[in-house]
Amino acid sequence: MKAEDFQAAIKQFEDAVGKEWVFATDEDVELYRDSYSPLWGEAEEPIPSAAVAPDGVEQVQAVVRIANQYKIPVWTISTGKNLGYGGSAPLLGGSVVLDLKRMNRVLEVNEKNHYALLEPGVSYFDLYRYIQDHGLRVWIDPPDPGWGSPMGNSLERGGGYTPMHDHYDAVCGMEVVLPSGEVMRTGMGALPAAKTWQQYKYGFGPYVQGMFSQSSLGIVTKIGIWLFPEPEAYVSGTVMVWKRDDVVPLVEGFANLVSSGVFRGTTTLASPVWFGFGLPDAELDPIRASGSVKDLEDYAARKKVPYWSLPLFFYGPQKVVAAQWEYAKEKFSSLAGVEFQEGASYHFPLSKEERAKVTDPVQIGIPSLQIFGLLPPQSQGHIGFSPIVPMDGKALIDALTVFQGVHQELGAGRAVLTILSSFPRAFVLIDLFPVERDVEKNRKMREIYRRLVKEAAAHGWGEYRTHTTFMQDISNTYSYNNHALRRFHETVKDAVDPNGILSPGKCGIWPKRMRKAESGKA
Ligand SMILES: Cc1cc2nc3c(=O)[nH]c(=O)nc-3n(C[C@H](O)[C@H](O)[C@H](O)COP(=O)(O)OP(=O)(O)OC[C@H]3O[C@@H](n4cnc5c(N)ncnc54)[C@H](O)[C@@H]3O)c2cc1C
Repeated sequence: MKAEDFQAAIKQFEDAVGKEWVFATDEDVELYRDSYSPLWGEAEEPIPSAAVAPDGVEQVQAVVRIANQYKIPVWTISTGKNLGYGGSAPLLGGSVVLDLKRMNRVLEVNEKNHYALLEPGVSYFDLYRYIQDHGLRVWIDPPDPGWGSPMGNSLERGGGYTPMHDHYDAVCGMEVVLPSGEVMRTGMGALPAAKTWQQYKYGFGPYVQGMFSQSSLGIVTKIGIWLFPEPEAYVSGTVMVWKRDDVVPLVEGFANLVSSGVFRGTTTLASPVWFGFGLPDAELDPIRASGSVKDLEDYAARKKVPYWSLPLFFYGPQKVVAAQWEYAKEKFSSLAGVEFQEGASYHFPLSKEERAKVTDPVQIGIPSLQIFGLLPPQSQGHIGFSPIVPMDGKALIDALTVFQGVHQELGAGRAVLTILSSFPRAFVLIDLFPVERDVEKNRKMREIYRRLVKEAAAHGWGEYRTHTTFMQDISNTYSYNNHALRRFHETVKDAVDPNGILSPGKCGIWPKRMRKAESGKA
């Protein structure tokens, strides 16, 4: 666009939200760069042109109208802590960041029906503090870093650890500013005198709430999320087995516990000898490199390091959680050589002193930033390659072997894979890649990442979420029937956002006017 049009738009943004809430100097814009960007310092790094921070729904509507008038692309963030997936930077360089962190009101927390109604800028820390200050007996479900927002995290379909760990599944009711500037409420919120906006998700007619997650179809200005009633107790323990193929009955038993509702949290299935953090061991590294299963099993037996370990966590009435853990042990007792280890257990509410001693806070709904101290040392940050694979031991071995093979073939070092049960009936694998302030290393990393995406798709495994840099790549793999799904997304996008102002390129969906030029770049 012409420079004078941009200046005119900035002036109108200032009139709409106040001069001090429009950030257009180089210094300001620098703060909206993605510090974990795998394109850092390269010409393609998407740098915003400005940021605008409205304080209410009417101001959001005014910003949207101005963006339409000038056809300015706008990229929405709530708390902008989306590190690993794009941070606070847009996908398309030159976009104006719509920063909603000033809209940070906790509108309601309902202790009897266990839900909250929130504005975008409320962080997990804010919500936790509100609940503590008001003495309410409900839990939030934070992801590892507590500085992000229930809004941004849920819209991205992120995950936590307690029984409310599937964050998008816990969303009930939204208020959305559409690309036209109109305000819409989903579900029961469409009823002007609604009494159950946060209690019943579906409302009447086609269910559209899902269209605003990982989406560029609207700006969500209020979100309802379900909370967990503070449980009486928490009990945890770990199941350990010693042979590689023990993972088959282990996962079969686990899937049964999940689907039958006995296990309701998120766990990390680990293979301490094969994958995972830690254990720098001069004896183990060459065995891992050789890929000999027998040698790894011998090592596991000799060193008493399990081939697989599965931590389990139970939340609820004291008698019930004790019975659930006993039931799980009974289920797994037929596995050869299985061992069980008791873990932390708590009674709620915790006293201030007890809370200070908790070593695994997010596990019991307490937001934290301790994850940043637990990661392996990295120069700048990391990006996760995160395919969804079946919750099946055999499929898991196949996937781990394929991804390890790509790492080896491309000289990427040992794969460090985390196996998470964030969603029912499938695992998410997270393969962490360091990002650097080094153009060549980042180029290499992008090459490996893209190869993994292709390899995964060829095996039928797709990613659940990705960094903005790779959204086009991932979208390209969801190509059934000549991209029928993407073409449907594009049809909706063109109808709802004809000027293509909202988050162009998000998840590989480009507005009509940019489609040809941009979608072919990946
Ligand atoms: C060490 C580490 C550990 C992590 N662990 C986890 C984890 O356990 N679980 C997890 O899920 N993630 C995790 N993450 C990823 C990330 O930090 C979190 O998901 C974080 O909550 C996202 O940032 P945010 O909440 O500030 O969202 P934002 O940055 O505000 O938003 C994220 C995206 O959502 C969309 N969006 C945001 N607000 C709106 C809106 N109002 N309307 C429309 N669209 C909107 C935009 O596309 C935006 O880019 C981790 C990251 C790191 C670095």
